[in-house]
Amino acid sequence: MKPRLLISLCFQSPARYDGGLVRDPFVDKLKAFVEPIYFCPEKALGLGVPRAKIRIVIQDGKKKLVQPESGRDLTEEMEALINGYISSLEEIDGALLKSKSPSCGVGSAKFFKGETYLKRGNGFFAEALKERWPSLPLTDEGLLRDRSIRYHFLSSIFSLAEFRRVKEAKNPSQFVEFHTLHKFLLKTFHEPLFKELGQIVAHGTKTLEEKINLYQESLLRCLTYKPSRSRHVNTLYHLAGYFTKRISQREKNHLLGLIEKFRHGKVDLITVLELLRGLAFRFEEDYILKQRYLNPFPDELF
Ligand code: SF4
Repeated sequence: MKPRLLISLCFQSPARYDGGLVRDPFVDKLKAFVEPIYFCPEKALGLGVPRAKIRIVIQDGKKKLVQPESGRDLTEEMEALINGYISSLEEIDGALLKSKSPSCGVGSAKFFKGETYLKRGNGFFAEALKERWPSLPLTDEGLLRDRSIRYHFLSSIFSLAEFRRVKEAKNPSQFVEFHTLHKFLLKTFHEPLFKELGQIVAHGTKTLEEKINLYQESLLRCLTYKPSRSRHVNTLYHLAGYFTKRISQREKNHLLGLIEKFRHGKVDLITVLELLRGLAFRFEEDYILKQRYLNPFPDELF
C-alpha cells in the first residue's frame, strides 16, 4: 500500500508567490511511490498566483501572518482555512511541505519583528499539522537532503501505510504479522516502545479493535524516535548473528568490517542491508528476508 502523503502543491503545479513551480529531484522521484494529496494554503485562501509576499511577524508576543504590501493581517482567515482543511482531511501517513515558506516551512519559516529578522520556526500550516497530529511524520524537502532524516521519514510513512491496511482489514493474523515483520525496524527506533507494542498484541482481554487503536498510538510514538547510527549497528550485529556461524571466516570478516565501516560513516546503510539480504537469500532465511528492516521502503528512494 502506498503512503498517503500530503504534499505542498507547488511541488506539482505553479502555486508559488512568484508564479513558479518547485523542482526537487527527490520529491519528483517520491511522487511515484506515494498517494499524493496536494494542497496550497495560500492559494486556497484566494491570494492568487502570483501574489504579494506574506510573512510571519511577532506582534505583542503573538504570531501574525501579514502581507506587508497590502497591509492585510491574514492570521484569522488563514487559521480558519487551515483548521477547516485539516478537519476535512482523510487519514494521512505523513506530510512533505515546502521549506522556508511562512505557511509550509517546517522549522524553517522566517519570523520578523517589524522589519527585523528574529528567528526561524514553523509556518502556519506546518504548525497546525503538528498541533493536530503531534506524532505525524512531517518534513520538508530541505530536511530530506539529510540521509538519516530521509531514512527516518520514509521508514515511518511506509510503516504507517502498511498499518493502515491492517486497520482496514481488522484481521487478527494480519495484525500479528505486522508486528512480527516490523520487529527489527521498530526495535531500532525505540526498544522499550517495541516491547510495549508486543504487550498490546498479546493482550488477553481487549478486543481486536481496542488493541489496534492502542497499537496505533504507540506505533506513532515509536516512529517519532529517529534511529541513531549506534542503534542501527546493534540491529545489524543482531541480524549478522543469523549468518556468522554459517559463512567462512573471510566472509564473516567482510560482513563485520562493513558494519564497522557503517558505524564510522564510511558506507551507507543500504550497502550493509544488501549484503544481509544476499545472505538471507543464500540460506533461505525467509523470516529475515521479510523483515521490514531489510526493506523499509523501495530501494530507489535510499
Ligand atoms: S510553499 Fe505552501 S503556501 Fe507556498 S506555494 Fe507552496 S504550497 Fe503554497
